[in-house]
Amino acid sequence: MMKTEEKIKAVRNRDASYRGKFFVAVRTTKIVCTPDCPAKPLEKNIVFYDTLEEALQAGYRPCKICMKEFPNNKRNNMETIKITRYQSPVGDMLVGSYGDKLCICDWAVEKRRSTIDRRIQRHLNAKYEEGTSDVIERAIGELEEYFAGHRKIFDIPVVFTGSEFQCTVWEELMKIPYGTTISYGELARCIHNPKAVRAVASANATNPISIFVPCHRVIGSNHKLTGYGGGLDAKKGLLELECPKIKGIGLW
Ligand SMILES: [Zn+2]
Repeated sequence: MMKTEEKIKAVRNRDASYRGKFFVAVRTTKIVCTPDCPAKPLEKNIVFYDTLEEALQAGYRPCKICMKEFPNNKRNNMETIKITRYQSPVGDMLVGSYGDKLCICDWAVEKRRSTIDRRIQRHLNAKYEEGTSDVIERAIGELEEYFAGHRKIFDIPVVFTGSEFQCTVWEELMKIPYGTTISYGELARCIHNPKAVRAVASANATNPISIFVPCHRVIGSNHKLTGYGGGLDAKKGLLELECPKIKGIGLW
């Protein structure tokens, strides 16, 4: 059990790492928030709940500021994360949606698999359930076009499930154009944090929405491929698909 002092401290620090671990209900406004909500309530008015469901049952409404990604009108019936397997030409993937957004497109075999899955479910406060959805169908359709060489830009809405820093890095990744690469150092400079090369590399490695959030376009400054969740062959396959002329010139 987490101590009340720890919860109060998390709320004071707006600590995003506590998202999903407990919920902060405000007696005066009847609104329930995540611990990192920017709208700070008076401490004397708050009550803690371990799950969102308990708070909703007690009559609290989800905060519009910090819980945009939580369903507003489903009280007792928590939304699930629909998840389906997709066989891509470079490896098996898990494609999943939460509401009308894509929350995962990741390699089925990846050493951080269970850690990433736990984080996504905790962040969205929802459980995986095998199945499909409109977003998943559209995402797979776009992936098929991409692998056939007919699609360079994706237009599926995504929901990020990470810390503020991870989200900043992932948003930046979405700006790297098709067929180009940048180094971890350049990526760190892009987010105005040139010294954070290692942190940027680790945020890049924990991106759960591969291809749509193109972490494969980040390579070492020496043009080495470095690491990739789907394995180096998958990374090489994606880069060669996007830029056939680099194939065979021994860039890596
Ligand atoms: Zn809030």
